[in-house]
Amino acid sequence: MDAICITCRIIKKQVIPPGGIIYNNNFVILHHCLDIHVAGYFILSPVRHVENLEQVKQEELFELTNILKSVTKALVKENDIDRVYILSLGEETSHFHFHVFPRYKWMLNFPNEDICINDKLDGAKLFSFIRQKYKADKQELFDNRLFSIVSRVRELMTNL
Ligand SMILES: [Zn+2]
Repeated sequence: MDAICITCRIIKKQVIPPGGIIYNNNFVILHHCLDIHVAGYFILSPVRHVENLEQVKQEELFELTNILKSVTKALVKENDIDRVYILSLGEETSHFHFHVFPRYKWMLNFPNEDICINDKLDGAKLFSFIRQKYKADKQELFDNRLFSIVSRVRELMTNL
């Protein structure tokens, strides 16, 4: 039998993500990323343990896309967030999920890090670079900026 995955542990409240769960209904769960110190970097998953998009049911898909839209809207209201990247990779955690990654202005201040190709920003490289640079343990994620963005987004989500 497989060990219970990290997302399922969050759903069962065995693991508390930084700032707590942001949004949760019968179909989807939204919470802050557990190990990258970038305020507003969220993970959106179906509640049901499925491993790819083909297994996602229509009603789950409806909720996932609704929440993606709402959370993106909430994030771009924040100062310094120019853009929101949405990715699904599935290499570390088997439970299907979307990364909702805020691209802040300050992320462009690393000129030597080779995140551009022909003067165009390479979003995938930036995402990967920032994830490596801001990899953090649980303690570092207890941060006021992170908590305040979580509570603002939670408030916007409950008023859907
Ligand atoms: Zn799971």
